[in-house]
Amino acid sequence: MFEKILVANRGEVAVRVIRACKEMGVKTVAVYSTADAGAFHAQIADEAYCIGGPRPQESYLNADAILTVALESGATAIHPGYGFLSESAPFARECRDCGIVFVGPSPEVIERMGDKDEARRTARAAGVPVVEGSDLLRDEADAQEQARRIGFPLLVKARAGGGGRGIRKVTGPEGVASAFLAASSEAQAAFGDGGCYMERFIHPAHHVEVQVLADARGNVVSLGERECSVQRHNQKLLEESPSPSVTPEVRERMHAAARDLARAVGYVGVGTIEYLCSDDGTFAFMEMNTRLQVEHPVTEMVTGVDLVKWQLRVASGVELPFSQDDVRVDGHAIECRINAETPEFLPSCGTVSMLHVPGGPWVRFDTALFQGASVPPYYDSMLGKLVISSPSREEAIRKMRSALGELVIEGVAENSELQLDILSNPEFVSGVYHTDLMEHLYGDE
Ligand code: ADP
Ligand code: ADP
Ligand code: MG
Repeated sequence: MFEKILVANRGEVAVRVIRACKEMGVKTVAVYSTADAGAFHAQIADEAYCIGGPRPQESYLNADAILTVALESGATAIHPGYGFLSESAPFARECRDCGIVFVGPSPEVIERMGDKDEARRTARAAGVPVVEGSDLLRDEADAQEQARRIGFPLLVKARAGGGGRGIRKVTGPEGVASAFLAASSEAQAAFGDGGCYMERFIHPAHHVEVQVLADARGNVVSLGERECSVQRHNQKLLEESPSPSVTPEVRERMHAAARDLARAVGYVGVGTIEYLCSDDGTFAFMEMNTRLQVEHPVTEMVTGVDLVKWQLRVASGVELPFSQDDVRVDGHAIECRINAETPEFLPSCGTVSMLHVPGGPWVRFDTALFQGASVPPYYDSMLGKLVISSPSREEAIRKMRSALGELVIEGVAENSELQLDILSNPEFVSGVYHTDLMEHLYGDE
């Protein structure tokens, strides 16, 4: 195991990783921006260094500054968390060149699966069903031709997209050009890559994803699936495991396909294969996230496997001591993302003047908040994740409602009322809901 690890992130995920390191007896190095002086992750690490200004480009995306701190502090590995540099193949390569272990798959695998267009081809070659669509669109004329072939409605999607950005829906031929332009320029601005492809718009659809964990010896296990169909603007809001929408037979095939794909690309570490599923039991590959996922705790709650610790162990060369037959999924877990936003979905920031965190058995609140913490405007709006598990889905829903009722965050607007609305919605409670649930609830696209 590594002696000292640098955590190249902020917020709840930095705290999550630092806690895992402490439990494993690994020393930690935090980095922070000037907007995060006094942030919780910087306080609980063994060492903490300011690496630049508040904007991500100046600090959490500043590869040179991060690598300098790693080398000077004697850290031998970097955990990138999610977002920021977690899916950057150039950064993973720079780490390797400096003799530092990047906690994640190799830069070659990140490159291959991070390009969503190439990932589709890779999945198809591995025998995994893929959403019907196009290769990279050459120009507007190509886009029109591909659209005619695929049919409407369809989505234009950025190959570099993430976090729900770079996606546009098209309902007819007249919308193709503007959607292509909009998706492309949004992706160019956000990811520095405007390349786009098309997919048939699957409707009604479930977003179901399979967690995989692989070691450097080629051992691959899948650790349950997560239903992530509660979304707003293609961003997940609430996740649960197991998925209430898949049958045991479909589950078996989805998991086997995910393991096959991980094996085919020589995957090492934790990763997620995302599928779109229809009510007739068909499923198709959408993308792979080559990193720790925001919603990983629901999987931990039902499997008892600490994904961050295993991520660190396999990165240091440890072989998985358990196989697929040893994986058990018990009970039902739900995660609610607590976001800093107003009831009108406008972002909120400020200083936390009062915080009360729910408790009790199998109740977990992953956060970097504390009373007096500041929530700066520069970063992702997620304040924390409330995660619970119970023997049954019915009880899990009641338990989450009870826990949300105890959560108090003052000084910053947050969305726990919205989460309570979702948890009492009959469609959600029935377990048969699709990615359009939020549109039904709020009538917005
Ligand atoms: P998950 O499925 O793990 O929830 P998301 O797509 O919601 O993943 O993204 C997780 C975090 O990473 C969010 O903070 C999001 O804004 C950020 N993110 C996702 N993709 C990218 C990317 N390509 N570049 C920068 N940030 C990203
Ligand atoms: P990101 O990289 O931003 O996470 P994804 O490709 O995973 O992008 O898509 C995000 C969400 O957009 C999905 O969870 C789903 O709700 C919706 N979506 C994406 N592709 C399709 C599609 N072909 N048909 C219907 N919905 C889709
Ligand atoms: Mg996705």
